[in-house]
Amino acid sequence: MHKGAAWIVTVGNELLIGRVVNTNASWLAGRLTYLGYAVRRIVTVPDVEEDIAEVFREALARADVVVSTGGLGPTPDDITNIAFCRALGVDPAVNEEALRMVEERYRSRGYPLTPERVKMAQMPPGARPLPNPVGTAPGVLYEAGGKVVVLLPGVPREMEAIFEGYVEPLLKSRGPPVFFAERGLEVRGVPEADVAPIIREVLRLDPRIYVKSHPRGREVEAPLLYIHVYASAFDRGEADRLVDAAVGRLVQLLKARFGGAVSISEERRLA
Ligand code: ATP
Repeated sequence: MHKGAAWIVTVGNELLIGRVVNTNASWLAGRLTYLGYAVRRIVTVPDVEEDIAEVFREALARADVVVSTGGLGPTPDDITNIAFCRALGVDPAVNEEALRMVEERYRSRGYPLTPERVKMAQMPPGARPLPNPVGTAPGVLYEAGGKVVVLLPGVPREMEAIFEGYVEPLLKSRGPPVFFAERGLEVRGVPEADVAPIIREVLRLDPRIYVKSHPRGREVEAPLLYIHVYASAFDRGEADRLVDAAVGRLVQLLKARFGGAVSISEERRLA
């Protein structure tokens, strides 16, 4: 159960050469998931206009919400806003409100507006700038045809501040709220390969249920599994009920199949 498909696009050569760990992607994936979106792709592209435009075109065709990070700054390799215009087939235009935001940031420190700084105020006509409380480049919000595209800066502190301040409230207000419930089980004494068919059977209970096993021990010598069960629904009670039903069925099937060989305990810390 979800509110729509989301794509995350992270832009930057530094990500592709392994210099920067893509923490923006995992941070956004967590936030979007908990807002009720199904994150379907995390794509990283270099600072190349055509590559960025291409992934935006594909994302616009397949996702309801697209969030990008990186490439909004003043340097020549910061071209995400321009590439996004290219994906839409429109000419970038200086947004007056964005220009005021950029100007204020620099003027307050005695710096003039240069063409590089004006560039940060360019966006597709009809887009809205999102104030950046901790940096200079505003974010960009573009809504059309029921889709939302958000361009955010690459610096994690800036990206998170804009997302929490403006994007999260907007996405929360779109469509019905989605609730999650989760439980974790620690299962000893059974190899993961033998648990797989049981998990498949539990998944058949309801498409809103997700069950994932994570090996923690040594598959053959000392099998130890962590099983994460979670469900999403448009109602909190329903999400809880689904998870409880899934855990009940899982325990029942494990005991029926492995008897005294298996030991199961509920785990508080969820992985
Ligand atoms: P600014 O105008 O604030 O520089 P920007 O949008 O131009 O922002 P980038 O130049 O793409 O951002 O990235 C700035 C820095 O942010 C990078 O050098 C890197 O340290 C960090 N960064 C960029 N992308 C990511 C990412 N996906 N995950 C974590 N850190 C990132």
